[in-house]
Amino acid sequence: MNRRDTALDVFRQSTAQTAYVNSMRMTVLASGSKGNSTVISSSRTRVLVDAGLSCRELLKRMAIVGEDPATLDAILITHEHIDHVAGLAVLARRLNIPVFFTEPTHRAWVRMLTPRTTMSYAKWLDHVQREKEARAASVAAQEEAGIDIAASAFRSDDPNATLELPVEEELGDSEAPKAIAPKEKANPAHLPAVEYFQAGTHFCIGDLDITPFTIPHDAADPCGFVFEAEGIRMALATDLGYMPPNVKLALKRIDVLLLESNHDLEMLRDGPYPWSVKQRVLSRVGHLSNDATAEFLQKDYDGASAYIVLGHLSESNNAPELARISAEQAIAGRMTLLGNRIILAQQAAPLESIYL
Ligand SMILES: [Zn+2]
Ligand SMILES: [Zn+2]
Repeated sequence: MNRRDTALDVFRQSTAQTAYVNSMRMTVLASGSKGNSTVISSSRTRVLVDAGLSCRELLKRMAIVGEDPATLDAILITHEHIDHVAGLAVLARRLNIPVFFTEPTHRAWVRMLTPRTTMSYAKWLDHVQREKEARAASVAAQEEAGIDIAASAFRSDDPNATLELPVEEELGDSEAPKAIAPKEKANPAHLPAVEYFQAGTHFCIGDLDITPFTIPHDAADPCGFVFEAEGIRMALATDLGYMPPNVKLALKRIDVLLLESNHDLEMLRDGPYPWSVKQRVLSRVGHLSNDATAEFLQKDYDGASAYIVLGHLSESNNAPELARISAEQAIAGRMTLLGNRIILAQQAAPLESIYL
């Protein structure tokens, strides 16, 4: 091998290596209280985190950004609130892929789909309340706790959010849908396969190494995720009332960070939400304000991200520019760091894929 060949080989190897290493991708299809969903891909594995829009809308958005739904390997669910699961059953059945939950989240989701009749949110809450009162007189406290979880299941921080039961939205379009057995169709919570994970315990799907971490939020067992493949790390942390130490720890050495920046405190205070909803959003199990996100970025963030994607922005109680300015000011003192580009995720449209 002559000298020129050797140089060429080194070049080829390094190019191949670069192509191989630089091959993780995050595509935010939607983010906000009306629906959340993000595709995370390595070169060999693709997962969807949450399915908070209708199946039809999720497929439409994947088509817009060039994500092929047929190549998805699994769906992962952060928690059972409707803005994270609205299209879940229909999409999972259509793509015939497994869904990963924690066991309490799966149970809460199944319970949420159990009412057989379609009723309004108010009626349903009333129904739950009456059921609870009746039981309180006679049955064990444990059963009551179960109902409490069910009562919180339809929550979204959008008080006008509607519930879409999956049975009502079966497939209408061309690409030969699989025939659904009557038994499956009768069960709105039927999924092709269910896998359980636990917060704090990492697991793998293909070559994606996934570490779920627990987050403070008013759901059965809510989680954020860190995904790692080929030396690149991406994380999702939305729907959290505050930044506890375990989350700060989980968000170290992250290359692409999707981080909640839900509301501006003044806008929320003066905004249209009923007092009870405002209290919920502001609580330790609600959502991160722009200020709380800025505080994290200023004091605890390690500056390692090439991209920080601000997500779950409230449409009623935030303005994208307020969220951006707040985050930019928080890292302003550290602009000597490479990267740290701030991007705003959107509710109404998907973001272009972020490649690393
Ligand atoms: Zn949410
Ligand atoms: Zn939530």
